[in-house]
Amino acid sequence: MIKILTGIFALSLATFAISAQEIKWEYPLKGDAKAVKASVSPFLYGKTWGYSIELDDGGILAKNVAQPLFAEYKFTDAPPGVKRGKETPFVGTAAVMVCNMSGGNSTILSWDDVKDLLAKGWDISNHSFWHTGIHWDKTKLLSPDQFKRELFWSQAVFAHYAYADKKAPLTFVYPSGDYNYKPFLKEFNLRAGSRVSGSSAASIFDPKFDPLELCRSNLDGLGGDKNKDPMGDFPKDIKDGTLHVDFSHGIDEKKDSVNYKAWQERLKTISDKYGAKGLDNVWCAPTSDLVSYALAAKSAKVDVSAGKITVVLPAGTIESRLTIRLEGIPESVKLDVPKDGLIYRQGDKVWLTTPALGKPNEAPKPKVKIGYEGNFAPEIKFDKPMKVAAVRLQQSGGFAKGYVPRVVFLLKDGTRKEFNVEKVHKWTGFGPRWGGWCLYPLLPEEDAVLADGVEIAPDPAFKKVEVWILDE
Ligand SMILES: [Zn+2]
Repeated sequence: MIKILTGIFALSLATFAISAQEIKWEYPLKGDAKAVKASVSPFLYGKTWGYSIELDDGGILAKNVAQPLFAEYKFTDAPPGVKRGKETPFVGTAAVMVCNMSGGNSTILSWDDVKDLLAKGWDISNHSFWHTGIHWDKTKLLSPDQFKRELFWSQAVFAHYAYADKKAPLTFVYPSGDYNYKPFLKEFNLRAGSRVSGSSAASIFDPKFDPLELCRSNLDGLGGDKNKDPMGDFPKDIKDGTLHVDFSHGIDEKKDSVNYKAWQERLKTISDKYGAKGLDNVWCAPTSDLVSYALAAKSAKVDVSAGKITVVLPAGTIESRLTIRLEGIPESVKLDVPKDGLIYRQGDKVWLTTPALGKPNEAPKPKVKIGYEGNFAPEIKFDKPMKVAAVRLQQSGGFAKGYVPRVVFLLKDGTRKEFNVEKVHKWTGFGPRWGGWCLYPLLPEEDAVLADGVEIAPDPAFKKVEVWILDE
């Protein structure tokens, strides 16, 4: 993780080759520094450990209760022991499943709520499309096709609605802890996965650390009978390199409740000891930021040579800021704040935080987009033929008794292709739930079809239609 290079100018120049695809960031280093030691800090801002709080299943409490509560606790953007840092609020991660987003249920986050959280420094984790992962009953295990369908469509819909098609989620929360998703995650650009019974080492320095197996402390009912100690399941001594993930499904909105008070106590204890008022060595961030930093830091090369510091990342690195620790720079050497970056100094030590380097995490291929959207109608005609990849239907309220879904694509060549409804999860097709979005997908295991319309068996529960097409 930590790469130390001693900058002896001529030697470094000779050995530091950069290929065209690599990502390079340079910072001018003036003055007479003869031997500068440079390394990548294990966490942003020179912090020594990372803290993440995940709230599962997309409840509105993430916005209404958790965000304002977490924001009462602060760390700074300065390295531990260096004063004058800018105070930064604790933030969390909302682990959201797509099927019930903006389905009309006000207890669930809407896409606008998600954007509001993103603007406040939070992020989302992909918590699958349908949350159907069952691993304790072998007869109900998902098939590879089902895993791929969940991951492809959740990534595509999140990318569109949460991130305006600029990127896709980076992290995954295993639904019901179903670790069988793991072999499929990377194919769909998910670089980390967390669950309560994960087996990853707690320290990013440990060779066994695996971002796809992040462990979490289960804080459901914190302060209640099962979980009386507000600091339960939190390490007694935080060692350098620790990445600790707390998780709960909910926090009681009543401020005088046992659960809310226990959360206050836990967060106060953590921030008093490790936050702005204490050691200030914690970086509290969404899991996605912690993981993208760890991945970028692991592959970064830092070079100090005549007149500049160069940071090089392999092509394809997912974007992250990086903090570079420098030693041996006399205080007399003037250093400017890097563009979109930060600088802190103490004695001959410097912490240089870069702007975001690398590229956003992409949605999986093939790219898809909404080709048609409107109110529900049993027959929809497009203006022109489109390569249809899926139909999504908003459902409010339960279906009429005995309803059987039927989706037929009206192909451009005049023939009809009936969608195989058996392949969709039962309850998303015709299950007893209050509201959300049903999905009838061809991709990723079937090809898109060139169609100029679609027929859908009606039900009073259907309100809106989206037809997703290949984005060519
Ligand atoms: Zn869940």
